[in-house]
Amino acid sequence: MTKSVMVVGAGIVGLSVALQLQLRGWQVQLWDRQAAGEGTSYGNAGLIQREAVFPQPFPRDVHELWRYAGNRSSRAQYRWKALPPLAPAFMRYWRSSRPDRLQRTAKDYGALIRHCLEDHMALAALTDASDLYRPGGWVQLFQDPRHWQAESEAAAYKRLHFDVDYAVWDAPALEAQLPMLRTGVAGAIHWTQPLALIEPVALSQAYLRTFQQRGGEFVREEIRGLHKVGAGWRVEGEQQRGEAPWLVLTMGAWTADWTKPFGYHAPVFVKRGYHQHYTQQGETALPLPVLDSEGGYVLAPMRRGLRLTTGAEFARRDDAPSLRPLQLAEAAARKMYPGLGQALDPQPWLGHRPCTGDMLPIIGPLQSQPGLFLAFGHCHQGLTMGPSTGRLVAQMLENEAHPFVDPLPYRPERFRA
Ligand SMILES: Cc1cc2nc3c(=O)[nH]c(=O)nc-3n(C[C@H](O)[C@H](O)[C@H](O)COP(=O)(O)OP(=O)(O)OC[C@H]3O[C@@H](n4cnc5c(N)ncnc54)[C@H](O)[C@@H]3O)c2cc1C
Repeated sequence: MTKSVMVVGAGIVGLSVALQLQLRGWQVQLWDRQAAGEGTSYGNAGLIQREAVFPQPFPRDVHELWRYAGNRSSRAQYRWKALPPLAPAFMRYWRSSRPDRLQRTAKDYGALIRHCLEDHMALAALTDASDLYRPGGWVQLFQDPRHWQAESEAAAYKRLHFDVDYAVWDAPALEAQLPMLRTGVAGAIHWTQPLALIEPVALSQAYLRTFQQRGGEFVREEIRGLHKVGAGWRVEGEQQRGEAPWLVLTMGAWTADWTKPFGYHAPVFVKRGYHQHYTQQGETALPLPVLDSEGGYVLAPMRRGLRLTTGAEFARRDDAPSLRPLQLAEAAARKMYPGLGQALDPQPWLGHRPCTGDMLPIIGPLQSQPGLFLAFGHCHQGLTMGPSTGRLVAQMLENEAHPFVDPLPYRPERFRA
């Protein structure tokens, strides 16, 4: 079969898949209804999270659940109406978050995370995007000493088993390092390996530029139909259509809509998230991203200003945006960082994290549909794992005997077991 493939979805995952295949001599046609990186990949916190070997679990601590029940934290907001259809995926999410299971999941999650920096750097060199990355890591703040203690223990585990580097700061050390923050924080962890993007969408744009310069075709159209034809696949937009022996769906939170007609129903859901940019006031600007664990927001210095991102909103994907998550995040952030100035955007940006019930991404061929590959469901760490996912998909399409990680844990069919 010819090495010709269509990739639908030009977020960070689809762009990475497209580039990695192109590097291996494939003819690639990339489709998206928007410009590159204008979906969820547009508005994240920009962190390449080398430390994130544990995916974000469903809270199992009663006190924590009680806190969320009030719906007063930006860390987790929910709309009652959205919850019933989410029940099956949530049950799986709850079960997968049991501490012993989480440890097992971390092995498979961490296998991809381990490679995030090298894979980002490889594509950055290819696409001339190295200047978009800021070294120096990021800082996780804890107001509750018990949470600080627990995360410090988890950090020691990550160092031992996953080569994660970090420094634990007590309150005086934090004040010495980041004097622009208000005191009252129990302690912090400085994750030293991660990189931080200063403009996430610029990375997608750089990938697309290189992809096109190397002969790749970008079709900017909304997909209206996907059909199996002969030994291959046809993609239909309003104006154009494409055909190829292979098709990779990388449509993030929209992918599952397109797999259902082929009988594939994965337990997926969406954690919505918002951002807004602000000016910084005062003499000393925040030099690196911080995440307030209890406040449930990230403050990340970016080109456009200081980007404030929220935690997870459990709402139906296409519900109208709400102002509340960002209001809650802003109120908490202003208490922590008096330098947070005026909002720069006319309204908050809303994005959709594509999540799975077992917290692992879905990567690999859909066995019942020859030629069809899936790569989505990266939830909180899709930016981090995009380039490694691209490498894995390319190695699988090339039929490599020993891909750089075992793809079995990510296979689409695992949910039927
Ligand atoms: C507030 C927030 C903060 C985050 N922070 C981080 C972070 O710091 N680090 C990290 O690693 N991750 C972070 N994430 C998660 C990360 O952004 C996502 O996991 C990642 O962007 C998903 O990428 P994707 O390529 O799968 O999806 P997307 O970027 O959403 O791309 C999917 C593409 O498919 C296209 N598409 C959909 N339907 C169609 C159709 N019918 N026809 C044509 N095209 C279609 C869309 O237009 C879109 O461009 C954050 C997310 C949010 C919301």
